[in-house]
Amino acid sequence: MADEVEMFFFPFVGGGHQIPMIDVARLFASHGVKSTIVAAPNNALSFQRSVTRDRDSGRPISIHPPRLAPGSEPPDSDMSAAPFTDTSMLREPLKLLLIARRPDCIVVDTFHRWSADVIDAVGVTRILFNGNGCFSRCAQELMRIHKPHEMLESEYEPFEIPGMPDRIVMTRSQLPHFHKQPGGGQPPGRMRNSEERSLGVVVNSFLDLEPAYVEYFKKEMAKKAWVVGPVSLCNRNVEDKAERGQQAAIDKRSCSSWLNAKEPKSVLYVSFGSLARLTPKQLLEIAHGLEASGCSFIWAVGKVFEPLENGDGGREDWLPSGFEERLKESRRGLIIRGWAPQLLILEHPSVGGYMTHCGWNSTLEGVSAGVPMVTFPRSAEQFFNEKFVTDVLRIGVQVGSMEWTSWNTEPGPPVGREKVEAAVRKLMDGGEEAAEMRRRAGDLGEKAKRAVEEGGSSYGDAEALIQELKSRKKA
Ligand code: UDP
Repeated sequence: MADEVEMFFFPFVGGGHQIPMIDVARLFASHGVKSTIVAAPNNALSFQRSVTRDRDSGRPISIHPPRLAPGSEPPDSDMSAAPFTDTSMLREPLKLLLIARRPDCIVVDTFHRWSADVIDAVGVTRILFNGNGCFSRCAQELMRIHKPHEMLESEYEPFEIPGMPDRIVMTRSQLPHFHKQPGGGQPPGRMRNSEERSLGVVVNSFLDLEPAYVEYFKKEMAKKAWVVGPVSLCNRNVEDKAERGQQAAIDKRSCSSWLNAKEPKSVLYVSFGSLARLTPKQLLEIAHGLEASGCSFIWAVGKVFEPLENGDGGREDWLPSGFEERLKESRRGLIIRGWAPQLLILEHPSVGGYMTHCGWNSTLEGVSAGVPMVTFPRSAEQFFNEKFVTDVLRIGVQVGSMEWTSWNTEPGPPVGREKVEAAVRKLMDGGEEAAEMRRRAGDLGEKAKRAVEEGGSSYGDAEALIQELKSRKKA
């Protein structure tokens, strides 16, 4: 049909980037757009079933595996794939596919650093997705312009980010390393250039969450931006939620029945996302802190950080002695080793708090579920997200994390058990301040759901992009 819009989606590999991009593709298919996800079969395994379910319910969505050159291997399909995973073996297959199909646009993850030239040369409209919210982008842009951290005497001297609509105080120790390098937070020339040549960016956020920052981002920073989230809300049935990302390491029924036995809002969910590798020392401090807090918890323990020469990563001695036995007996804690069905857990009525590393997807998923947080940032732009949760939204308690670490290098000293215990108690022990946070979080959760419904701001932005693509087709 002449009026039909066809969008391609080219996700990066790895949890925090691939998961939301698949949701974006499914969201546009729910608006009637013919959506094609370009992904190698090994990468597609984790979302194949959701896409099939969408198709069975009449949505125009499919997965297209790029045809690789003989002998060429597709990128690693691990959910904790590194941000610098090489995907350039997909260059030629992508080019041939775009020439053959000529979609109305391709939404591409910014981590496919090589892709802009190929797509632009073929002449297909390119839209970018980098997975971050508007607050952290604005904060980083203002840091780049004003460089307030360059005047400081020490790593721990607080400074304010100039020009922000809210008062945001940080320390240099919490800044990503690229902000501290000469050139101060300037995205590499190639990335900046690639953004300037694109049609614009799709953002996973919603207007009511960060109105001042959406406005600043749209007016001052982006060429064009469509704010269409929270995209995780497109997962409406239990299977989609339980299988999102990858097969969970726990059966959804045992997880639900454990939660069903708990009082409303009494359980803390603890997770550090898809990439994090905490050291045995840090895990031990968290374990002690959780136990001392007296609070019930579900803890999704991802990979454990170990220098390679120290073994195979299977060490268990980070648990305090007898810890798991005590948890089993008291039924006070559930440890998930590996992937957790995060959306199902966060939305369960027994969950009343979320200790998070402040990855943007996880933050937004906590917001969408109306759950207040204990913020425990470590890497990437997570310290900015922390300040947003605690100082702008006022729905979180900081654990007191001070040191930014790269995802793959040995982290600094761990956050101590006393800090973990104190933050958990403050959020979960039912004081007046926590009740206010809970009320505000609940309110935001309602707003999130309204944003993606017909008449909501994110629904409107998705429709606006579709209209734009239709009018470019006619031009
Ligand atoms: N996730 C999950 N189960 C896990 C760990 C992570 O479902 O055990 C999902 C989580 O719901 C989120 C994504 O993985 O959608 C993590 O993205 P985020 O941006 O929060 O952090 P990153 O993994 O990139 O650090």
